[in-house]
Amino acid sequence: MHTVAAEELASLVRWIYFRGWSPGTGGNYSVLLSRDPMRILVTPSGLDKGTVQSTDLITVDQTGRAIEGDGKPSAETLLHVAIYDKTDAKAIVHTHSIWNTLHSLGTGLELKGYEMLKGLAGVTSHDHTEVVPVLENSQDMPSLSAEVRGVIKPETHAFLLRGHGLYTWGDSLFAAKRHLEVLEFLFEVEGRRLGMG
Ligand SMILES: [Zn+2]
Repeated sequence: MHTVAAEELASLVRWIYFRGWSPGTGGNYSVLLSRDPMRILVTPSGLDKGTVQSTDLITVDQTGRAIEGDGKPSAETLLHVAIYDKTDAKAIVHTHSIWNTLHSLGTGLELKGYEMLKGLAGVTSHDHTEVVPVLENSQDMPSLSAEVRGVIKPETHAFLLRGHGLYTWGDSLFAAKRHLEVLEFLFEVEGRRLGMG
């Protein structure tokens, strides 16, 4: 069993909950266990993210079907599959925070000139423009996952779903957490600068 990965993921999810970024059972989180065949350890739907335990996590395949564990996979698991297919991600975090929801109502962000951008993988200078696209939200996950596949470029670190939340990822659980912290920090800075909050 993947006990260490499950413990680390559950611990991160609880930490994210207590930052206020995953309220009301919202959000979902995963780590890639293997790429071929694709096996993803993921939080099931409807779970309180503040109390999630490693034993609550389920393993799904590339169709989003649960193959191990008791919970029900979220429909959004298909978006995780799309991201793993299109990137070298090993972990994905999807959060519903106040600042990422506010920015998701816009047309997409260009974050530039901030030292904190250097926390994003491959970014070595504040003199960088990070584009965070906004996709229309949908409950039709096959069509939304096709859109996700279309929008992700090699340099993409994250995207927003309108009125919904943020997806970001990394080549380790630590990198995904770091990207989340950097983006939430910059979303709040930009939001306050623009008088959004
Ligand atoms: Zn969501």
